[in-house]
Amino acid sequence: MDIFGDTDPKLMPRHLFGGAYQLDYASAIRGNPAKQNFSVCPRHWYLDAIYQCGMCRENFTWTAAEQKTWFEQWHFWIDSVPNQCPKCRKLRRDAKAARQEYNAIVEQARHGNDLALKARVLTLIDEMTTTDDQLPEKIKATYEVFASQLKNSKQPADHADKSTQKLSSKKSPPNI
Ligand SMILES: [Zn+2]
Repeated sequence: MDIFGDTDPKLMPRHLFGGAYQLDYASAIRGNPAKQNFSVCPRHWYLDAIYQCGMCRENFTWTAAEQKTWFEQWHFWIDSVPNQCPKCRKLRRDAKAARQEYNAIVEQARHGNDLALKARVLTLIDEMTTTDDQLPEKIKATYEVFASQLKNSKQPADHADKSTQKLSSKKSPPNI
């Protein structure tokens, strides 16, 4: 008996594509269980499957070719399915990298007068915000402090004692 769909992709257990809206059986390509990371149920076939992204809510296709890479090159656990579309997965990776760089440089930026480094920290926080709008208060506070330091450093010195210039500069939007 073919309980895992070796002879026909339509006989594959549905949990291998849990959460998919639509499966395109015409796109099926052969899987090689010898290269897969599974305990009981391998994937005998890969096929284009449509999912909804958990971040942006757009539909995207998890392609048969991409699945073969996941399971036979990267050896992901066989029941793995994508939670985000490729675009959002990249955003998350970029945000994670931004957070790592932030952690590495923020103390140095805090204790020095290196304005380029402070500006870099602001850019990194912006990148983190694209996937996480609940950043810790300390990071938000750092943003405010560095943004204000950068803004003050950009005010021309020869205008500093003219009250009219001071007033107009106060009305302009934060330079971040
Ligand atoms: Zn997405």
